[in-house]
Amino acid sequence: MLESGKILLHVCCAPCATSCVERLLENRRHVVLFYSNSNIDTHEEYDKRLQYIRQLALTFKVPLLIDPYDHDEWLQRIAGLEDEPEKGPRCVKCFDYSLKQTAAKALETGIEAFTTTLSVSPHKKSQVIFNVGQRYHGFENWNFKKLDGFKRSLELSKQLDLYRQAYCGCEFSKRTS
Ligand code: SF4
Repeated sequence: MLESGKILLHVCCAPCATSCVERLLENRRHVVLFYSNSNIDTHEEYDKRLQYIRQLALTFKVPLLIDPYDHDEWLQRIAGLEDEPEKGPRCVKCFDYSLKQTAAKALETGIEAFTTTLSVSPHKKSQVIFNVGQRYHGFENWNFKKLDGFKRSLELSKQLDLYRQAYCGCEFSKRTS
């Protein structure tokens, strides 16, 4: 793993990103945020999460890149898996969608490394995310759950008064939340 240098951080939402950004900055990485969330069920919710990510970028003084929202394309990618439970194969496809977008953005911008905030969530298995990420050049397997990463994300989100959504993102995750 590189100990310095730029890293593109795929960001699912501002609360999850807090402790991930803090951890990477502590490790002297130059963080660039990448908001790529075509999995989110409505444009309104996508925009709401983006609003707080903009706030986070200003707080940590890091640049933010934004992937255009395309939920129809995401739905095509997970077609046939709509009824799968959370943590199942639909989520693996969803991780692949976001990490492929992030790998492409890293290549386009000349950033050699990338990772994702997804690993901070206690609802997601880090190893499953890493298995997907390793399909793409430049992926670094940061396990942001370690060192109480999720607990720290709760503390920072409270301090910064960030919006914390009640469901993962897609319409299918609403059934189980
Ligand atoms: S539950 Fe979350 S990770 Fe799984 S497919 Fe839906 S948005 Fe993606």
